Amino acid sequence: MVDRLVVIGGDAGGMTAASQARRRRDADDLEIVVFERSGFTSYAACGIPYFVGDVVQDPDDLVARTPEEHRRRGIDARIHHEVSSIDVSDHAVVVRDLHAETEHRQHYDDLLVATGAVPRRPDIPGIDAEGVFGVQTLDDGMAVRRFVDEQHPETAVVIGGGYIGLEMAEALVRRGLHVSLLEQLPQPMSTLDPDMGALIADAMRGMGIDVVLETAARAVELDGRRVRAVATDGASLPADIVVLGLGVTPNGELAAAAGIEVGETGGIVTDDRMETRSARVWAAGDCVEVRHRVTGKPGAFALGTHANKEGRIVGINVTGGDARFPGVIGTAITKVCELEVGRTGLTESEAGEAGFDAVAATIETTTRASYYPDSAPITVKMVAERGTGRLLGAQIVGREGAGKRIDTTAVAVWNEMAAGDIANVDLSYAPPLSPLWDAVLVAARRVAEMV
Ligand code: FAD
Repeated sequence: MVDRLVVIGGDAGGMTAASQARRRRDADDLEIVVFERSGFTSYAACGIPYFVGDVVQDPDDLVARTPEEHRRRGIDARIHHEVSSIDVSDHAVVVRDLHAETEHRQHYDDLLVATGAVPRRPDIPGIDAEGVFGVQTLDDGMAVRRFVDEQHPETAVVIGGGYIGLEMAEALVRRGLHVSLLEQLPQPMSTLDPDMGALIADAMRGMGIDVVLETAARAVELDGRRVRAVATDGASLPADIVVLGLGVTPNGELAAAAGIEVGETGGIVTDDRMETRSARVWAAGDCVEVRHRVTGKPGAFALGTHANKEGRIVGINVTGGDARFPGVIGTAITKVCELEVGRTGLTESEAGEAGFDAVAATIETTTRASYYPDSAPITVKMVAERGTGRLLGAQIVGREGAGKRIDTTAVAVWNEMAAGDIANVDLSYAPPLSPLWDAVLVAARRVAEMV
């Protein structure tokens, strides 16, 4: 008898699992069916801001593998199919064909829930107006692009200064719109400490973005059914289009409704093999919660880097292997205007909240030897534990060449290295690529002096 793996969600987590499982077991041994609500499989959501900003013109360039390509590889990928419920006792899902408007039950031997995340929506009047967009799937990205191309909006408000909001703000500036960024906190990008976030606010203002801080959106004002402005306590910001950049929450509702355990973060609870507490039900990607290796606590981290790793692990385990997800340390990188921005581990404020006695040091140097053309500023902040010197986290903001240095610090945080040891690591040097003392070494030495 052929086993059947059913996957809910045909993007990073779901399709990586399906592809890995297919590589390990042939179609005559394992049937794989993937249900995807949207019109695309295996798309790069990360590329949406660049598609909206016209850096990438063709949406097909953001699709790694179409449903037809998956089918040729023996994966029955069905787009416009939405799973509306899971029956764990009967090992079945109820699936709605969104085009044919029909419904059927599909049995599974193993089930993978890879439903992703949902953009947070503020509970304010008018939020469902025409012209208000959350950005999560490629369908969402195409809707924003179509609106910009066809409706020619002149003004935009991005509500929330998360990294997706910042990337979308920049994309809309590229399209010629006047953009306001509305953020409740003192600085955009709350995954950084405020002093590092301030550098980003400055860069955004330099690009002509109106950065409005410590201000909440109170209502979306309408012209008929369409957005006209966003009201705050102080002013009304004109907006022909509104984009939500408040971050996302795990899409765990379908699982929760089926009695599959969901944690306080809203993410599905799994073991390190990515199996839920319900037998032969697996979960991967933005819809799960995972352990933070520094705090030891569960958290929801919506990143493609985790979704792909977790999907691969499910693909191995569901086909008789034994792979384990080791947790995360919150490493992330983005580019905002001219700035590359990276972070890993804990910020100074997160370290305090987690109960660490932490010290922090911030240094400024250059990305290349100071005499070399295009040498540019880089700011590195490191957070270490007092006494042990253990590196708890790092943040980097700087121009071209700065950002990927965060990976060096991520390896150090992952391996619980002391700042003093990092300061002596044999890192590379050549004038076009770094000063003799690389920014990472300088920051590690500075914070080591403080512990
Ligand atoms: P998703 O990619 O969201 O896929 C889930 C799929 O499930 C969706 O296609 C959805 O339609 C489908 N689905 C949901 N419910 C159902 C249902 N009931 N039935 C059928 N189908 C369903 N990460 C990075 O690491 N680096 C970046 O630079 C980066 N940039 C990003 C930029 C943007 C604009 C966005 C939106 C995300 C970005 N991410 C980035 C995050 C990354 O894209 C996600 O972490 C990753 O796509 C998560 O994969 P996933 O499979 O868990 O979820």
